[in-house]
Amino acid sequence: MNFIRIKIPGDSKAEEKFKQAAEAYEVLSDADKKAKYDRFGHQAFEGGSGSGFGGFGGGGMNMDDIFSQFGDIFGGGGFGGFGGGRRAQTKGSNLRIRVKLTLEEIANGVEKKIKVKRKKVAKGTTYKTCATCNGSGQVTRIQNTILGRMQTSAPCNSCSGSGQTIDKKPSNADVHGMLQTEETVSIKIPAGVVEGMQLKVSGKGNEAPGNSISGDLLVAIEELPHATLQREGDNLHHDLYISFSDAVLGTSKEIDTVNGKVRIKIEQGVQSGKILRLRNKGIPSINNYGSGDLLVHINVWTPKTLNKEQKEFFKKMSDNYNFQPNPEKGEKSFFEKVKDMFS
Ligand SMILES: [Zn+2]
Repeated sequence: MNFIRIKIPGDSKAEEKFKQAAEAYEVLSDADKKAKYDRFGHQAFEGGSGSGFGGFGGGGMNMDDIFSQFGDIFGGGGFGGFGGGRRAQTKGSNLRIRVKLTLEEIANGVEKKIKVKRKKVAKGTTYKTCATCNGSGQVTRIQNTILGRMQTSAPCNSCSGSGQTIDKKPSNADVHGMLQTEETVSIKIPAGVVEGMQLKVSGKGNEAPGNSISGDLLVAIEELPHATLQREGDNLHHDLYISFSDAVLGTSKEIDTVNGKVRIKIEQGVQSGKILRLRNKGIPSINNYGSGDLLVHINVWTPKTLNKEQKEFFKKMSDNYNFQPNPEKGEKSFFEKVKDMFS
C-alpha cells in the first residue's frame, strides 16, 4: 500500500490546484453534484450554500475530511495526520473459517471450540527499532506532480512497515520470529444466525512481527439441513402427513421442534392443507425481536390401495351426506391460507 501525503506550505497555487482536484473527486462520487457541476461549473459548490467546500479553513469540509476521502480511493486510511511522529503499527492477516451449525444450535446459540492454525510471535523473540526508518515504518521522498510538491511515503522495506526488525529469535521460528501454532479458539455464536453470515472474533487472526496487533478471525456460518424442519427466515415449517382415518377421527402427533419434541392435537375432521401455528417455536430473531413460529402443514394421506372390504365400505359411503365436501363458511381456502402466511 502506498501512502500519499500532500503538503501545501502556503503555496496558494498548489492549494487552488488541490482544491480543484478534491472538488472533482467529490463531484465524481456524487451523481447529483455531477449534474450541478456540469450545469454551473465549480461555482455551484462555493460560498455558504452548505453543500460545497466553502474554502479551506472555513465552513464545509476541512482538510482531514478531504484526505479521508482520498484515503477511500487509494484504499488507504493511511494518511496518518500531518504532525508526524506517528509510530508504525501493522496488523496481522485475517483468518477465515467455516462453522457448520445444526438448526438446534442456531435456535439456541452455541459456543464452539474450534482449532485454528495461527501465526504467532515465538516465545523468546525480541524486536528492536528499525534502523532504516527509525521506527516510523515508512520511508518518504519528495516529488513534483501536477498537484504541486508531493511527499510520497511507502512502507519501509527493511521492516515491512512494522517499524521494528528482529533482535533475537529461537531457532524454530521463521525469519520474522514467527511460529505456526494451533490454538483452540472459543467462538460464541448468538442465536438466530443465518447461512452466509460472517462473525468476527477480534484479535484471533495471525499475529504480525514487531510492534503490531493481531488480525481477526472471520467465521462464516453454514447451516446444516434438518431432517424434518425447514427454515424460512425466523419461521420453521414442518410437513405432517396423517392417515385418512386419523383425519376423520382426530389424533395427536409428536413432532420435532428446535427444543425437543412436542405433542400436538389434531382435531377430528381436520382438512388437508390446514396450517397449525405454534407460536414462538421458530428461530429467535438475531436482532432480539422475539422468535418466529413453527408452522405445521397438515397433509391427509389418501390410501392408494384398498382391500375388498375397504372398497365396499367407501362405496357404501360415497353417497352419504357426511362424505360430501361441504366447506364451512369462513373456512379459508388453501390459497388464502398461503396468502395469509406471507402477509
Ligand atoms: Zn523500517
